Amino acid sequence: MKFKEFCDRFLKVHKCGGCREILDYENLSDALCPECAMRWRIAKTESCPVCRQSAPDCSCMPKGLSKTGALSLRKLYFYSSKKDKEPQNRLLYFLKKHPNKRMASFIARELSPLMLSELSVLDANSENTVIVNVPRGHTSRRMYGFDQAALICGELSKVSGIPFTPAIKRRRGGREQKQLDRQKRFRNVRSLFEVSDTLAVEGKYAVIFDDVVTTGASMSACAEILKKAGAKGIFCLSIAEVGQNSVK
Ligand SMILES: [Zn+2]
Ligand SMILES: [Zn+2]
Repeated sequence: MKFKEFCDRFLKVHKCGGCREILDYENLSDALCPECAMRWRIAKTESCPVCRQSAPDCSCMPKGLSKTGALSLRKLYFYSSKKDKEPQNRLLYFLKKHPNKRMASFIARELSPLMLSELSVLDANSENTVIVNVPRGHTSRRMYGFDQAALICGELSKVSGIPFTPAIKRRRGGREQKQLDRQKRFRNVRSLFEVSDTLAVEGKYAVIFDDVVTTGASMSACAEILKKAGAKGIFCLSIAEVGQNSVK
């Protein structure tokens, strides 16, 4: 046994992002254990109540978001807080708290084909397209010390070859979206974001990424300011969408 193999086998502890069990040596580089990986695949087969397609094939979006002229919202699964103990939600929550590259890279590899298939419909490519994250709230960012959407966008960029630019900034002040109801979210959010790097998005396609889309208020606000900054087309991407608000 080589020294590196010895270290990997006995000293490194890699846990499953879905159940926190320690992964076997053979599965060390995976994000999920075989059981959770299977349940993750099953979660992705849930169909959209609007278009009847499975989550990864559905491009429906919340009303507010489609009004902005965004072209689509692609997602990996439909979120339900009732499924908190399921691996897909546990992985999602884990990524909010831990800047874990192995998990972020797994999500990026899952998202990349959805994004690329969307881009291939138009003439969008690595030259004329940028990935942009919906920036995390200041309070959560301070609490956990990182922005999970930016981390995933970085990994997505490595996997897909599409550059990532954190071109949107959150203004200081303003309330955290998750404390507010639907209507207030839309009102609150309008003044929350600004494009800090217009040159990076002007005349380009932008793929906006957020980990979860609930009402679509943050995503819509980002889509609007990117359009104003001169983006020529907006695609949206998320790990999960709370499905009940979508329209075709
Ligand atoms: Zn597991
Ligand atoms: Zn759909």
